[in-house]
Amino acid sequence: AVQGCILTGVWVIAHECGHHAFSDYQLLDDIFGLVLHSGLLVPYFSWKYSHRRHHSNTGSLERDEVFVPKQKSCIKWYSKYLNNPPGRVLTLAVTLTLGWPLYLALNVSGRPYDRFAYHYDPYGPIYSDRERLQIYISDAGVLAVCYGLFRLAMAKGLAWVVCVYGVPLLVVNGFSVLITFLQHTQPALPHYTSSEWDWLRGALATVDRDYGILNKVFHNITDTHVAHHLFSTMPHYHAMEATKAIKPILGEYYRFDETPFVKAMWREARECIYVEPDQSTESKGVFWYNNKL
Ligand SMILES: [Zn+2]
Repeated sequence: AVQGCILTGVWVIAHECGHHAFSDYQLLDDIFGLVLHSGLLVPYFSWKYSHRRHHSNTGSLERDEVFVPKQKSCIKWYSKYLNNPPGRVLTLAVTLTLGWPLYLALNVSGRPYDRFAYHYDPYGPIYSDRERLQIYISDAGVLAVCYGLFRLAMAKGLAWVVCVYGVPLLVVNGFSVLITFLQHTQPALPHYTSSEWDWLRGALATVDRDYGILNKVFHNITDTHVAHHLFSTMPHYHAMEATKAIKPILGEYYRFDETPFVKAMWREARECIYVEPDQSTESKGVFWYNNKL
């Protein structure tokens, strides 16, 4: 678990490479990002481009890439059987362990595209024509690491690879899903359809959280996410300072939730089930969470 937490810190740096926030040289960021992401079995450019789309469409019910809340009409019939303590434990367990690979491979919880979308597909609808070659390169990176792991398993045994690599990787995946889920899901966060959405409103529909000691381990990606959405090419070591600076300017538009993250995870799983249009506005483009099934 300790290795996993430290490795989550590495994931934070890798994420920064994708934002060109690591060095002044795009090529260096891409090479370093490719190596780090492949090492975590993430296709680097594929993720970089879909993550960029997330940043330019945050909070939009139609175009955000991930953690898009459902509207009431799209709620699945089994949801009401899952909104109880055992159901939530099951949902959270699956989300934290399999959520990340399922999102990459099957676009689970991703935005709808007109056809099946997955991160490994160079011709997929997530990417534009000039990005396709880089998707092949990302796939090659992941395949190379898989091959390396296979060779390691042959040499040292599968159990060794699972302990030294598999378990820490599960921890990284779990934390990265949890961190991003909690940054974009909170009972008081609005979502918008195109009649009301704009980039700034979306960027401000994110929330900073407190992970206690882990804030430091995770390079403060947890408690500086609002600033990250406003200035995404800023490296993590300036994010605390930037957050301090934006707080007084944003005033009540700056969102911070001090609920301990485990408690917050449980509450959000219970309360953030689907969104409904705000009844008080004329335009019906602002949506709030509801949990009544
Ligand atoms: Zn980002």
